[in-house]
Amino acid sequence: MSNLNEESLPENEKFYGDAKQFWEEMPSTVDGMLGGYEEVSPTDLNESKTFLRSLIKIGKSKGQTGRVRALDCGAGNGRITKRLLLPLFKNVDMVELEQKFLDTAKTFIGAEVGRVEKFICSGLQDFSPDPCHYDLIWCQWVVCHLTDDHLIAFLKRCQTGLAPNGIIVMKENVSISDKTEFDSNDSSFLRTEEHYVDIINKAGLTIVKQQRQKKWRKDLFAMVMIAVK
Ligand code: SAH
Repeated sequence: MSNLNEESLPENEKFYGDAKQFWEEMPSTVDGMLGGYEEVSPTDLNESKTFLRSLIKIGKSKGQTGRVRALDCGAGNGRITKRLLLPLFKNVDMVELEQKFLDTAKTFIGAEVGRVEKFICSGLQDFSPDPCHYDLIWCQWVVCHLTDDHLIAFLKRCQTGLAPNGIIVMKENVSISDKTEFDSNDSSFLRTEEHYVDIINKAGLTIVKQQRQKKWRKDLFAMVMIAVK
């Protein structure tokens, strides 16, 4: 795993190229987004909602985070934008590697799609949010596709993209062994939770809340939600 931190271009090209090829071949459905496990989507979204509601200004919550603008990173076909973000935020932007997923999102999201302001086709490694813009930046099952160096740099850029009291949430699979593994099938890293914490520290961000997905199928990878600012 020593090359994880090297900015060696040919290796990065293969790493990102293989992931792009994997996603290009994937159908633009919820099942495609979840690697064939469409039925876990409601369970995933329910716990995300509970986690998020404790951090945002809503009802009796003590959360400080505003509810004007959210950014969905690696947004795919809009599963999260539609079911988690649009019900809680006034406007949502989506950033996604594959144009075909964004095209599907425009119909998949349905009646509320008018509140999606921007559909941005870009890899997160090349993307910079506008400064002081978002109350929430949500990244799910996507930062596994960035190298450590690119993830650190991306988190720093996201921090500058946050509105006052804004937060970044990463929700990712985590390795239950004590080491990060590489998955050559989709060209992604299955990092340990400690590895994510180390990356957050290196990016100079602060952890606001960190929690495992509790209700989850035992045959799937464990998942962690980490909110940072
Ligand atoms: N977050 C969505 C989709 C998860 S699937 C959801 O939970 O439903 C992973 C998504 O990340 C795919 O849509 C894929 O095209 C996208 N992706 C992969 N690598 C990426 C990268 N480097 N930058 C941005 N998006 C990427």
